[in-house]
Amino acid sequence: MDIQPIQVDGYEKVVRCRDPKSGLHAIIAIHDTTLGPSLGGMRMLPYANEEDALFDVLRLAKGMTYKSAVAETGLGGGKSVVIGDPAKKSRELFLAMGKFVDSLGGKYITAEDMNIGIEDLEIVRSVTKWVTGLKRESGSSGNPSPYTARGCVIGMRAMLEEAFGSPSFAGRKILIQGVGAVGGRMAEMLREQGAKVAICDMNAARVAELSSKFGYEAVPDDRHLDAECDVYSPCARGATLNDQTIPRLRCKVVAGCANNQLLEERHADKLRERGIAYAPDYVINAGGIINVGCELLPGGYKEANALERIDRIYPNLKKVLEISRKEGISTHKAAARLAESRLAEGKARTTAARS
Ligand code: NAD
Repeated sequence: MDIQPIQVDGYEKVVRCRDPKSGLHAIIAIHDTTLGPSLGGMRMLPYANEEDALFDVLRLAKGMTYKSAVAETGLGGGKSVVIGDPAKKSRELFLAMGKFVDSLGGKYITAEDMNIGIEDLEIVRSVTKWVTGLKRESGSSGNPSPYTARGCVIGMRAMLEEAFGSPSFAGRKILIQGVGAVGGRMAEMLREQGAKVAICDMNAARVAELSSKFGYEAVPDDRHLDAECDVYSPCARGATLNDQTIPRLRCKVVAGCANNQLLEERHADKLRERGIAYAPDYVINAGGIINVGCELLPGGYKEANALERIDRIYPNLKKVLEISRKEGISTHKAAARLAESRLAEGKARTTAARS
């Protein structure tokens, strides 16, 4: 196994592993550990080349630093990518990946991400303890989706308050695009709290099933942007906020769990120009990472700790909205400012402790 550093400005540590025996070719990026060890998922994709994989892992690791800083998980940001075809996974590959993760001595802690399942992580766990998000029965935090859903619903309250002066869901129409693990759970919670829930999904059968079971309004996925609502909640995929969609939105708030909702950062400014309050995705969808992060607290994972911390998404979004208003900037930029100020405070604490 050959592990080599890659020099990247602004990153604490980036390492590449090549292991001819298992076929492993992977990169781990540790962006920043000021606030704690870096935690971020492992993804596997058939990247065209190492350059593409490096671009992806660097972008994602930095994103994790910001997400954790705003969510106050006590963690830093990191990520790992396995370069290869997910159809060709093997036990040897994940044993080698486990050794690679272990070589960083806990500065990088891994979890699930695209094309990586719990069964893969269990193999990784057999050679390193720096793995989170395994099954609840093994003392780990289990499936993050219900916690992400809870955080989104709590965060939506801050957004409603901003747009309508009240955090109440009663009578508010919420359109959820993507009723999968997170969106489906959010729909249930919102219905229980008095919202009028409308749903759409590329999976029409799922929409039909949930609508008849819970009485949600079913909206055709290809026409969902024409549907008037108070909150549009993208919970399916990224890049749904772009030049084509933003002028068509008929809502006052955008707040959903999908990652990377903005096609480009400037689209947050476009939303602001239209008077639409946008909940930065990585702030409102942090419930899952907060839940996983609780595995690392002294005494191990306790759900009560996780729930209390997830509820802090509400005051965090309030802070983001306040910065946005005071400084006249998009909520996306405001969230970055909040993350950077927490990192600066963390750095100042470290320096003070050393001197
Ligand atoms: P999921 O796969 O369970 O559900 C996604 C749903 O969206 C499915 O029902 C799917 O049919 C639908 N969908 C996918 N592409 C679509 C499209 N182009 N148009 C319409 N519908 C489409 O996924 P999930 O775990 O619920 O996650 C949803 C989003 O939230 C993803 O972007 C994910 O990265 C993000 N996210 C999830 C978590 C978590 O804890 N699961 C945490 C943070 C962020």
